[in-house]
Amino acid sequence: MEDLDQKRIYNQFASDNYAGICPEAWQAMQAANAGFASSYGDDLWTERACEQLRHVFETDCQVFFVFNGTAANSLALASLCRSYHSVICHELAHVETDECGAPEFFSNGTKLLHVDGPGGKFDLAEVERAITRRSDIHYPRPKVLSLTQTTEVGTVYTPDEIAAASALARRHGLRVHMDGARFANAVVSLDVAPAEITWRAGVDVLCLGGAKNGMAVGEAVVFFDRELAYEFDYRCKQAGQLASKMRFISAPWIGMLENCAWLKNARHANDCASLLEQQLAGIDGVRLMYPRQANSVFVEMPEAVAAALRAAGWRFYSFIGSGGARFMCSWQTTEHDVLQLSEAVRLAVSGTSGGDA
Ligand SMILES: *Cc1c(COP(=O)(O)O)cnc(C)c1O
Repeated sequence: MEDLDQKRIYNQFASDNYAGICPEAWQAMQAANAGFASSYGDDLWTERACEQLRHVFETDCQVFFVFNGTAANSLALASLCRSYHSVICHELAHVETDECGAPEFFSNGTKLLHVDGPGGKFDLAEVERAITRRSDIHYPRPKVLSLTQTTEVGTVYTPDEIAAASALARRHGLRVHMDGARFANAVVSLDVAPAEITWRAGVDVLCLGGAKNGMAVGEAVVFFDRELAYEFDYRCKQAGQLASKMRFISAPWIGMLENCAWLKNARHANDCASLLEQQLAGIDGVRLMYPRQANSVFVEMPEAVAAALRAAGWRFYSFIGSGGARFMCSWQTTEHDVLQLSEAVRLAVSGTSGGDA
């Protein structure tokens, strides 16, 4: 496999899922590899991981482990809805734009209704309008409000904003789902207890991300209202999301939670993004698109600059507006990486200045 090693990617800010497995998750997985254990989640690692999540969230929540975020979101939403219901989400929400219709598929037709709002967050007046727009039988009945924390553009909902959104949802009989693929980055950014931005703020179910935080695979679906988890195990199994060797998904959670590695990883990623933000802020022609609040930096820059960066081997995502670029940091990003990228941007700007208007 040495030939593959040569092909390793170095210059990348494309995604936090480009990163490898962090040592804590890796060691926990290795520890779980000693001999036999019961299958399908009936093992001590899974039990311990669930207990730890209850400890972290300071409540007796019901926990399930699935392979990825799309499954976590889709199955969680399906458990909150009937097929004739609808889910209100932001127009940039991952469930709307990046899950290939899986939420609709697993809920047998529940419709996603998207709502706009600045900085990747809901405008609650718009949400209320979407909920109350229609109440007749011809329209899919709003049943869930889905928030993403950290949002798709790297901003963070404050505890008050979540509480206000939940209160609005409750007033109209809706449940609250949170897509927390980057939940840890929000916890660190806000410096709050996880409970403060979930069940204490009215969230019913959280899809807690593991992969982008440093695990190989696996997300936790955390039901704060246990009644909503009724028969969720069957949903997981039917969807092909019940791991037979469950301990290799659950054990890494123990490694991540035990010594707060999940928060350490998130803090590191956020700090890298903060440094990148500082570095890019002073460069002519580069404009920050959103407040940097977690582990990503979104910038607008001339197309020629983006092209020059790509030509130099840098990887990043581009979307939203012409030349818009997303630089995402992970537990594995180094300060050196950040400074190298910043230097590459400076170089690209000076090399293309005068060309691109
Ligand atoms: C990455 C991500 C997910 C999960 O995606 P999978 O590829 O299905 O694991 C969910 N929500 C958001 C906001 C994400 O960024």
